[in-house]
This record gives sequence, C-alpha cells and structure tokens, in this order.
Amino acid sequence: MLNLTDNFGRSIHDLRISITDRCNYKCVYCRTGTNGAAYAELPFEDYLRMARILVGLGITKIRLTGGEPLLRKGIVDFVRDLANLRTADGSRPEIALTTNGHLLAEIAQPLKDAGLDRVTVSMDAVDPERFARITRVPNGYESVLRGVRASRQAGLDPVKINCVLLRGFNEDQIVNFGEFAREERVVVRFIEFMPLEEDRVWTPEIVVTLDEILARMSEYLPLEEIAHERSETARRYRFSDGVGEIGIIAPVSHPFCGHCSRIRITSDGKLRTCLFSVWDHDLHQLMRRGATDDKLAEFIVKVVEKKEERHHIGEPGFVPASRTMVHIGG
Ligand code: SAM
Repeated sequence: MLNLTDNFGRSIHDLRISITDRCNYKCVYCRTGTNGAAYAELPFEDYLRMARILVGLGITKIRLTGGEPLLRKGIVDFVRDLANLRTADGSRPEIALTTNGHLLAEIAQPLKDAGLDRVTVSMDAVDPERFARITRVPNGYESVLRGVRASRQAGLDPVKINCVLLRGFNEDQIVNFGEFAREERVVVRFIEFMPLEEDRVWTPEIVVTLDEILARMSEYLPLEEIAHERSETARRYRFSDGVGEIGIIAPVSHPFCGHCSRIRITSDGKLRTCLFSVWDHDLHQLMRRGATDDKLAEFIVKVVEKKEERHHIGEPGFVPASRTMVHIGG
C-alpha cells in the first residue's frame, strides 16, 4: 500500500487545506493592507477529491485554513463531506479549523453538527482597541469573543487561541492572555513570529521567544510543563493552581522540523511540503488534465518524499518562501 513518508523518515499524517486566500482582516504583521485575492479558489469538490486521496494515503487530520476560511460559502457542507471520509483502517479523519473568528459566532454550532472536531481562533490582543489596531478592522474584538464563546458552547472543546507576539507592539499582552485563558477556559498558544509576511518586516529582534514568554508568564503565576506528543508543535504548560493552560509554538528559537508531520494544499490546489518551500507542486493542474486517482496518489507520494529537511530562518543566505502566510494557509 502507498504510504506518505519522506526521505528523512518522517511520517506525514497532517494536512492543511487553504480554501481561500481572501481575508477580512489586514493584520499588520501579515498583510500589506491592500485587498483582494492573489490566487484562485477551487470548487469544494476539487479539495474533497484531493483530501479523499490523501486520507487514503495515511492523512488522519485535516485542518481548514486560509486566508479566512469562513469567507467561503458552503464550508459547512464541505466539513460534512470531509467527515464522511474514512482512513484505511476505517476511522474518520479529525477535522479542525483555523479562523480569525470574526464570522464564527453564528456558524460554530452548524460546523460542529457537520463534524468539525476543533477550532483555533487567532487573537493578537485581548483589548478591543489594540485588537482593532492590529487587525485594521473596527469592532472586531466583540465579534471574535462571541465566536470563541459560541464555539465552547457548541462543544468544540478545547477552543485554542493563537497569538503572535511582536516586540514593542503587543508583547505587553502576555499576562492579559494568561488571565484570558483562565477566565474563558481556552488554551492560549503563543506563536513566534516567522518571516512569512507580505511586507518583509521580520527581524530576529522582533521575535518574542519562548523563553521570554515563559519568564513573563511565570512572574504572573507559576507554570508546570505538560507532556506533549512528538509531532505536536506546541509546548504545553498549565498554571500551577490547575486552572488554565497555555502553549508556545517556537519555530524560530526551538525549531521542530525533525518531527514535522504536515503538508499543505493552497487555495489554488498546489501541494506545499514546508511553510518555507521555495516552490510548490501543481496537483490541481494534474487533476484538470484528467489524471486518475492512482496517478494523483503517485504524484503526491513522490512530492512528499522530497519534503525539505528543515527551515533556515535566521541563517545567512535564508531564501524567503515563494508565498507569504496568507497565500499559503497558516
Ligand atoms: N484567517 C485565519 C486566522 O486568522 O487564523 C487563518 C489564516 S492565518 C494566516 C493563520 C495563523 O497564522 C494566524 O494565527 C496568524 O496569526 C498566523 N500568522 C500569520 N503570519 C504569521 C507569521 N509571519 N508568523 C507566525 N504566524 C503567523
């Protein structure tokens, strides 16, 4: 049977599908502030066919992302179709969503009913004014908070919050996020800022590192590390009184490429084997030309074999990825 393993022996079982690269937020560290999609979107049936073949090859987890995935009409039906896929051993793939949460409140329950297992909501501040300055959209904070609460109510537990910290901009929010995690009963995960932005503003100095986040949070309340799965990107910590959990995803200061189990499909149907890939692989073109499922599976297996060993963030001669985050799918 075909299987997805790369030349470094890593087993690939985690798929991210970007279903649009449009976004209703213009977060300052991600986008230039201009509008409009840069790459095409495919009909859901095309993503579904790709997903079905990939699940047949050993993918057990599918995360929908973008751009902002909730901008796509028909996402509930798509989740339902994904939830009907079966792996080789007959189990259902786990289905997750990453969203900015702006449109989440009304759709959280329908998504859960359709088969969504988990949701991650991105928030880079927990006060409304700062939130608006980062997203460049007024009054977003209230909508997102409603989305987070509706997700918990719908049973999409544990709701995870992703926060990217930038030095001199929102690093003073660390403790506020600790309080937020405890009060709202969500898992807040800090992500180190990576050089994947449209405006090319990244410098090593702007990254707020894992060690700094831990030091600041521990001044607020002591933390205990929780064991995590090898392929899990986040290091996990609980507050010592047992209330609340945070995580830190540290691709810059503590890279985890050796345990990477991920591949991505972009909104226009390109296969990417690393966030930092300098080229991608046109799965959709092959489909359009009439390739059979077997041919597509063979293509995927060959592409995955050549997955990059690791990223080279911060090294001399670092070559930027061929797309920025919003056009890859975070
Ligand atoms: N619109 C959705 C959202 O906001 O979650 C999905 C796409 S967004 C690109 C996915 C995640 O990538 C967000 O949590 C965002 O903060 C994060 N992100 C964007 N640019 C990043 C960068 N340069 N480094 C690290 N994370 C980044």
